[in-house]
Amino acid sequence: MVQTGLHHVTAFSGPALRNLDFHTRILGLRLVKKTVNFDDPGTYHLYYGDAAGRPGTILTFFPIEHAAPGRIGVGETQETAFRVPRASIGWWTHRLIEKGVAHEPLVQVFGEPTLRFRDPDGMMLALVGVDMGAEGGDAEGWASSEVPAEHAVRGLHGVTLLLDKAEPTAAILTEVLGLGEVAREGNLIRFAGSAAIGGLVTLRAVGGFLRGRPGAGSVHHIAFRAADDAAQAAMGERLTARGLHVTEQRDRQYFRSIYFREPGGVLFEIATDAPGFAVDEPVEALGSALKLPAGLEPHRAEIEAVLPKVA
Ligand code: ZN
Repeated sequence: MVQTGLHHVTAFSGPALRNLDFHTRILGLRLVKKTVNFDDPGTYHLYYGDAAGRPGTILTFFPIEHAAPGRIGVGETQETAFRVPRASIGWWTHRLIEKGVAHEPLVQVFGEPTLRFRDPDGMMLALVGVDMGAEGGDAEGWASSEVPAEHAVRGLHGVTLLLDKAEPTAAILTEVLGLGEVAREGNLIRFAGSAAIGGLVTLRAVGGFLRGRPGAGSVHHIAFRAADDAAQAAMGERLTARGLHVTEQRDRQYFRSIYFREPGGVLFEIATDAPGFAVDEPVEALGSALKLPAGLEPHRAEIEAVLPKVA
């Protein structure tokens, strides 16, 4: 079955070392790729995910050492949520308290226990307790130094987009990206793709709210999955037919991407599932070395000299 839903979420952060510590040690995600921003090779691009770095589990950051904080507003991703086993929510609540992580009281959202918290840059994150089904990915829980596999994050749950109006964005989700409306609650409308992991996008329409300002803690873009280049090209044609501007395909080394700004103002990407993160290092070694695309390899020494030390 073709998998539709999120491929990854990419955000700005402050210092790389602090970002790495929080997301790998506190949250227990696996660093699956350490590379640079291909459009600005003097800065890192850090990718976190599950054990294998599968599509739908990936959260990535462009860390900037002295980044000004962002401000959340319409036309932005407000919240990025991860899946954990439903029975592990209590363990995580205790962990966030123990680690001094700012969080809100546990709430039920669409019938699922949801623990909202912020990372050190103020990025709004959540852990959602879900029933692990047959394709829930139980086996992929990454056992890190402080988070045992049984409680580990099982990929992205989904994102919540803050919008002026829901309908124009909803049309893109349902008519181009392969998601369908599944539920409404208050001012939230939830859409689901076919993928169990990273399958959910929730729209929160709040007319008249200020626009966001990008900075540390804000999401730069969200990426949706395309099975292959042909599926991606077909999505691109449907977007163009709606009068949206779509970029040329860009080779991101681990996937191939096109980008467009959806009518609600959020930057969307469509990324191919292939080739994946094991294309330039074995799965056992993911994230252990600084990887550069062939075009930047001749400049490795200069690039390494300006990157902050993270390990
Ligand atoms: Zn991306």
